[in-house]
Amino acid sequence: MEECIFCKIVRGEIPCFKIFEDERVLAFADINPITAGHTLVIPKKHAENLWEIPPEDFSAVQLAGKRIADALKKVLAPVGIACLQLNGRGVNQVVMHYHLHLIPRSGQEPPLPVSSWELKTGDMGAIGRLSERIAAAVG
Ligand code: AMP
Ligand code: ZN
Repeated sequence: MEECIFCKIVRGEIPCFKIFEDERVLAFADINPITAGHTLVIPKKHAENLWEIPPEDFSAVQLAGKRIADALKKVLAPVGIACLQLNGRGVNQVVMHYHLHLIPRSGQEPPLPVSSWELKTGDMGAIGRLSERIAAAVG
């Protein structure tokens, strides 16, 4: 994609702090890090989101994400790593090229907002009915 900022990074038209690369995947540092070590893992071939990405690229991103998570653990000894992946502007996806966030937390920072929501018991009838509809739609 001509104008896509992550495609420009893949083509080398915009610099990045490269962390990992193979034939399908590129991983680089997020330049607005939520925490130290915040890393993005992307497919080299443009796909906007989880619905568009082909299974082979999806698998490659996940496997690379695991290898990089191991490296983050070695280098930073974090108390945890959040893996976050947004699909659609309605959930605040800003860059419309599929990317997996790896967000290690040292424990010194405030809790990550993405991993600290309030638990409220749901309506079991509604959960059950919706689960049946979703289960029936799984291809
Ligand atoms: P999202 O809300 O999941 O679409 O997040 C997009 C992420 O891309 C943000 O965390 C940005 O800081 C990051 N980002 C945007 N442009 C660049 C860039 N040129 N290099 C590295 N990270 C970037
Ligand atoms: Zn792109």
